[in-house]
Amino acid sequence: MNADFSDENGVDIGHEAVISKFKKRFNRNPDFVSIAPGRVNLIGGHVDYNSGIVLPIAVDRHTFIAGGKSDEADVLTVHSIRENESFVVDLSCPVSPTKVNWTNYVRGVVHGFLSRGIKLPGMEILIDSTIPSGSGLSSSASLEVATAGILEAVSGVVLKENEKPRLCQQAEHEFANVPCGIMDQFSVSFAKRGCMLLLDCCDESVEHVEFNHDQLALAVINSHVRHELSQGEYAIRRQRCESVSKTLGLESLRDLTWSMLEQSRGQLDDLSFLCAEHVVRENERTLNFVQYMKNSDWLQAGEMLYQSHASLREKFQVSCVELDGLVEFARELGPEGGVLGARMTGAGFGGSVIVLAEREKASNVVSKIVEDYNQIGATLARPRASGFVAEPTAGANVTRFIVG
Ligand code: ADP
Ligand code: MG
Repeated sequence: MNADFSDENGVDIGHEAVISKFKKRFNRNPDFVSIAPGRVNLIGGHVDYNSGIVLPIAVDRHTFIAGGKSDEADVLTVHSIRENESFVVDLSCPVSPTKVNWTNYVRGVVHGFLSRGIKLPGMEILIDSTIPSGSGLSSSASLEVATAGILEAVSGVVLKENEKPRLCQQAEHEFANVPCGIMDQFSVSFAKRGCMLLLDCCDESVEHVEFNHDQLALAVINSHVRHELSQGEYAIRRQRCESVSKTLGLESLRDLTWSMLEQSRGQLDDLSFLCAEHVVRENERTLNFVQYMKNSDWLQAGEMLYQSHASLREKFQVSCVELDGLVEFARELGPEGGVLGARMTGAGFGGSVIVLAEREKASNVVSKIVEDYNQIGATLARPRASGFVAEPTAGANVTRFIVG
């Protein structure tokens, strides 16, 4: 395995930093560094668990894990810089989740290896990260995939291509208790630099579609808000979608068309109907967005983002006043200000919005939206928003070996 992403400054700096932190903590050089990016979903909100079509993009914020074999057999020592905390896993026993939530993402992945009969040697690993967690950039999937990468590297056992994201998804389901779809682990694993990843969650087929980097940029604005209800509401939305499929005798909402839905109006309560409408239309919007991007029709592509946001707000009902506010500030800047479109991303009820912007004006777009929002937000005692221009980066399927 060899790295192909070494020319990105952010990766280089983070890579050097994790090596020196590992050295300081364990008094030795690491053998490997495993790197996994964060991701944002450009469009295709809340359709991944409905076997739908999504368009994530890996962004240049990363989890870095340095690691190496240790002399102590069956002992895995893990340290997270962000949590400023360490824990130890006994590799000779079955692994289970604990009350210390962050450790469960790592434990879940270790469990995935052990339960597949893979023998892991004793090792020390140190986790560092430039991904803000809980902001919709999927720091959890990034942590899982980077963990799987370091376990592969140190043990010398390489999982089959699609098995790694599946193992990581299972870790998130069973150890972190989050019933996520496959999108996050797939995009973090397989993204290509400079590309969006068109993923059909039904058959897991992937198409890499170029993001026109010369003319466009993607801004990510974090509201730093996370409403308490987010997890419960996510589960309710999933259940609602599943129960509509069941009522209509479908395997998933992916098999639903608009005309079928209209004919079934009488069988569904209002909220269920709206949820299903969102899913059907969102799948169409994702495909339209890709077509507009391929045709360089940026304004129409941006319009798909606005429509997606409106549908998530009114039909799927997972937005919140902070995300709506950020999207409105983006819209106010408009094409003259360099904004082509905007929408909330991630599960909703807080987290981030993305803004499709003209490359030349993207930095201004970020500062203007953040400034406008913070001026209003300050009077309402909300957290201050912050943002950055994200670069479409490579996935984590490469683990870099350190000589030595
Ligand atoms: P998101 O995936 O959107 O960032 P989640 O709530 O799904 O938000 O995952 C965030 C959680 O993942 C954190 O609360 C923490 O438990 C874990 N996590 C992510 N990055 C790290 C890290 N560098 N060190 C320790 N735990 C982390
Ligand atoms: Mg997550």
